[in-house]
Order: sequence, then structure tokens, then C-alpha cells
Amino acid sequence: MTTRWHSPQFHAYYPTGTSFASIIGGLLGDGLGVVGITWMASPACTELEVVTMNWLGQLLGLPKEFLNCSPGSGGGVIQGSASEATLVCLLAAKDKMIRRLKSLNPDIDEDLTKIKFVAYSSDQSNSSVEKSGLLGSMKMKLLKADPSGRLRGHTLQKAFEEDIANGLIPCYVVANLGTTGTCAFDPLDELGPICQKYNAWLHVDAAYAGAAFICPEYRHLMKGIEYADSFDINAHKWLLVLFDCSTMWVKDGYDLINAFDVQRIYLEDVKAEIKIPDYRHWQMPLGRRFRSLKLWTVMKSYGAEGLRNHIRSQVGLAQHFANLVQADDRFIIEPEPAMGLVCFRLIEGDKITKKLLNNLTEKKKIFMVGASCKGRFIIRMVICSQFTTKEDVEVSWKLIKDETDTLITYEKVHMKSITTMNENIKNINMCEKSK
Ligand code: PLP
Repeated sequence: MTTRWHSPQFHAYYPTGTSFASIIGGLLGDGLGVVGITWMASPACTELEVVTMNWLGQLLGLPKEFLNCSPGSGGGVIQGSASEATLVCLLAAKDKMIRRLKSLNPDIDEDLTKIKFVAYSSDQSNSSVEKSGLLGSMKMKLLKADPSGRLRGHTLQKAFEEDIANGLIPCYVVANLGTTGTCAFDPLDELGPICQKYNAWLHVDAAYAGAAFICPEYRHLMKGIEYADSFDINAHKWLLVLFDCSTMWVKDGYDLINAFDVQRIYLEDVKAEIKIPDYRHWQMPLGRRFRSLKLWTVMKSYGAEGLRNHIRSQVGLAQHFANLVQADDRFIIEPEPAMGLVCFRLIEGDKITKKLLNNLTEKKKIFMVGASCKGRFIIRMVICSQFTTKEDVEVSWKLIKDETDTLITYEKVHMKSITTMNENIKNINMCEKSK
């Protein structure tokens, strides 16, 4: 059995991209069968990645410091997943911090200092963020988000101050632009200045929603991006590129090179400067696939407007679904829909909302997953397939509505029979007593 991620009734998690253009790019990459361990091992593999990452970075409106085509040492690299990006940056942050502290005090004990490093994110961040702390051996504090699911500046400031007072060292912060549960956006303009003040690395996990920044109308949600040290979106989520293609940019490629450069004679390459990156220092593995071909074929086939149309039409479909839910007074939408995600629950409570989701999942006609918002259980409905139409959304809504009708009717009958049974028991007891 396989779960059909590209069915119009697949509304779980977040989308995974596909398109004929991406399939062709993937086939080309697989067909060429190169492994870009160094520039020499496959120059095109490195150079097309530089080019496509510049195109996409510009399309997203990233500050020029992140782009290889600008002066400076910034640039983009394709990782396998957002999880890898978060971990790579955590390890680089650790290395950068210890170098800084050693430059201030060469006598410090590296091992005893590193165990004082702390990473922070919100309690709404993806599981992969917590996991990066486990893999990277850094204490990870998941700070309480505000009722809208956002990590606020004052919360981070307080955590930093408390930890510093206890002899710990704030090192790494992961901000979310589009949390997995409810697609909440942390205010980078609040978090950024705090990270800057304390020399903590700011990584931005925009795995799903970051793709929307190709549309200028959403860029206000990344206000403060200039404070970030690194930024990652999964082009394989919402940009029609097949898994795996997680696009990550850093302001300073030397932060990665300093942390991960391990030399061997057999890896000797042309001594290129940072503008022709030796990408093996920018990632965990040595080997790397020719992933940029998928990005290239997609960007060439769709163009900027084609990709923007895709994002806007999916947001429009989510809005259409939200209107259908809103018109049914048994439901409540919470929080406000964001991007292609609509979260909703039954007014009657968590138990019945969970039951509704379980029943729908069991029937296998529609697939959604749950989350929580303000302590309540919610159902997440995401527009995922690129083939989804307005009619498909209406089919999904009908499935949800019909199941709700059945469930509520069942609950009423069930409640009525329980009440009748209780009354019967009461009557029997009274008869017994009067005997
Ligand atoms: N970050 C966010 C916000 C996500 O939604 C997800 C997955 O849905 C991830 C990270 C993990 O992505 P990946 O599977 O590429 O590691």
C-alpha cells in the first residue's frame, strides 16, 4: 500500500512537490550519475547549484548578503532536508562561538565551554529542531510561544538573561517562518536584534511557508531577515520540485568551511575561492547528488510568474475551503488560515473533533492530521496536490461534512439511549427500594 501524496484529497502534513519538469530534472541527475564531491569531480554539479541558488535567492527577495552573486562570502547550497540544514547550522554555530570565545580568551577549555552552549526555539517548532539539539549535543530549550504560536522577543531575551546568569552561553536560535502545526511566523525583527547582541547564530526554518516569499505580498512576514545567519526552505515542499531539495543560504560561507573543512590528498581540488564553493564543506556527507538539475528544470519551465501562480492559487483554494467551513456553525476555524493551511475544530469539543478525524482517516477517502492550538485539538487541512481544483476542495469538504452529520446523529442517538438506560436503572432502583 502506498499513501497517495498527490491525490487532491491528500491534505496531511505539508505538500511534497512534484511536476513533470522536476521529474525530467531528476531523471537527468540520475542518468548522469555523477557524485559532486569536489568541483573537479563534476564542475557542472557545483556551478549549476550556484546559479540556481542565486536565481531562487533573488526570487525570494533575500538580502544580497546571502547570494553568491553579490560581493562577500554568502551563498546558497542544496541540502537533503530542512532537518539537515538545521543541524548543519547548529554545528557551525557551535564552532563559530568557540572560535570567538577562544579569540577572547585562548586559555579556555574547549570541551568544558562547549557543554555550556544552549540552543533555543519555540515549542511550536518542528520535531527536527529538537532533534538537531540531540544530534549536535547542544541543550535545546523550546520556549513557550504566544497564543498565536509565535516566539516573541521578550521570551527569548528573558531566557538568554536567565541562562547567562546561570553560567550558560546562548549559542543558536531557530526561528520559524511557518510552524508545522499552525503555520505561525516568528517575528524576526524582535528575535534578530537579541541574537545579534549576544552573538547567537540565528537560523530561519521556513521549510514550507518560505516558498511564498517569491510573491512580494508575503515578504512582510520575513521582516528582520537581515539579522539571520542562515535561512532554509524546502523547495521540495511548495515549489513543485521533487524530494529532496532543501535550499539553504548562509551569510558567510566561511562559517561552514571553518567548521567542516577536513582535507585529504585524494580530495585535492583546484584552489578555488569561495565563489566556486567546495560544497563538501557546506554539508554533512562528502558525496552529493546533482540536485540542482531538478530546481533548474522547474525554474526554467515555470518561470517566476508560473511559480507565483502556483502559490497564489493554492492559497486561494485554502481560502475557499475556509469559507465553506465558516458557513457551517458547528465548526470553528482557529487560528486564522495561513498560506495553504486551514485549521478547524468542532465547537462541541476535542473528543468529537478527534473522533471525526479518526473516522475520516479510517475511511481512507481523505487524509488530514491533527495538531493543537491554545490547548485545543484541531484538524489541519492543507492544500497539497498541485492538481487540486475548487471542485476537489468541495469534495473534501463534503466528505468532512457528511462524516460530521453521521457522527453528530450517532452521538445524539447514543446519548439518548444512555439517558433512557439511566432512567430505567433509576426506576428499577426506586421500585426495589419501595418493595
Ligand atoms: N520544518 C518545518 C517547519 C516543517 O514543516 C518540516 C516538515 O514538514 C521540517 C522542518 C522538516 O523537514 P524535512 O523533512 O525536510 O527535514
